[in-house]
Amino acid sequence: MIAYASRIFFHALAGSRALKHLASRYGMRNPGSFARRFIAGETIDEAIVAARGIEAAGMTETLDLLGESVATMAEADAATRAYVTMFDRIVAAGIGRNISLKLTQLGLTIDRATCVDNLRRILDAAASRDFFVRVDMENSPYTQVTLDVFETIWQQGYRNAGIVLQAYLRRTADDAARMNAIGARVRLVKGAYREPRSIAFHRKTDVDAAFLDVMRLLLDHGQQPAIATHDPDLIDATRKYAAARGIPAARYEFQMLYGIRRDLQAELRNRGHGVRVYVPFGREWFPYFMRRLGERPANIGFVIRGLLRERSTQPAH
Ligand SMILES: Cc1cc2nc3c(=O)[nH]c(=O)nc-3n(C[C@H](O)[C@H](O)[C@H](O)COP(=O)(O)OP(=O)(O)OC[C@H]3O[C@@H](n4cnc5c(N)ncnc54)[C@H](O)[C@@H]3O)c2cc1C
Repeated sequence: MIAYASRIFFHALAGSRALKHLASRYGMRNPGSFARRFIAGETIDEAIVAARGIEAAGMTETLDLLGESVATMAEADAATRAYVTMFDRIVAAGIGRNISLKLTQLGLTIDRATCVDNLRRILDAAASRDFFVRVDMENSPYTQVTLDVFETIWQQGYRNAGIVLQAYLRRTADDAARMNAIGARVRLVKGAYREPRSIAFHRKTDVDAAFLDVMRLLLDHGQQPAIATHDPDLIDATRKYAAARGIPAARYEFQMLYGIRRDLQAELRNRGHGVRVYVPFGREWFPYFMRRLGERPANIGFVIRGLLRERSTQPAH
């Protein structure tokens, strides 16, 4: 309940232009600025540096060029081109070929057909360079359409793509069964948005129980599922379930977000598990950043301290 209230609060704050202005001004200014805890940087070069660090520590990554809910086709086209250009940079850097994106970044809210075209442009460029593309899941107005678009490209033969399912949605066990049936790769998350009780669980115990149900479905019948959580109980339950069913660690992986529970990332890696870190970067980091704050109200303390520090070190003018 507290977690849900905090999510509502931070979603409201995310709409504040003044706050966005303040955060954008100070959040990424210096290497120690507060938003850098969760965001690798504003440029692909900074993301590559982060990726190299992750790989040096024995893990893998998926790179996310931040951006969502673009308002014009020109912006959607720019995001599409940015992803394609990014592939060459990643290949040249020699890091892992795995990216994540959001359909509203490719124009889903403006025109679905163009969004599908944009996604295909990215998938074609990805396929020729052996990239895997994960389609992130956004809030519930986009759940069905995201799954529909994903199934469309799947039917068209694209196999270098995977989807995300959110355990907090009451529909998700059915969606997982469907994705298992077509052989698609699923990343399972709890879900990061504010959703009505009619379609989503609000209590942590209910979300966790749903997560475990879907985790079992994916481990038993899924393709290379990604169990994406920082919750130690859910991670333990996953490990124990896999061990009891004789499912080797190579058949699934854990995923976590950049900057969150690095201790747990290392521990899992040391136990021989595949760990992939989600590395967000880019100039449009504010909505992503606010979702991370909403998940853990304690984060607000470090942001306020960071803001005060940044302002006090600002040159006088
Ligand atoms: C790889 C990856 C990809 C994701 N993709 C999507 C997506 O496409 N769509 C979507 O809706 N959601 C996505 N999420 C976010 C997800 O839905 C959750 O909101 C987020 O992972 C927090 O939930 P949790 O499972 O870690 O559990 P929680 O119960 O929220 O957290 C468990 C513990 O993790 C730590 N923790 C969690 N969040 C934070 C934080 N922000 N700051 C500091 N510590 C924290 C704390 O120690 C906490 O006690 C993704 C998450 C991951 C890991």
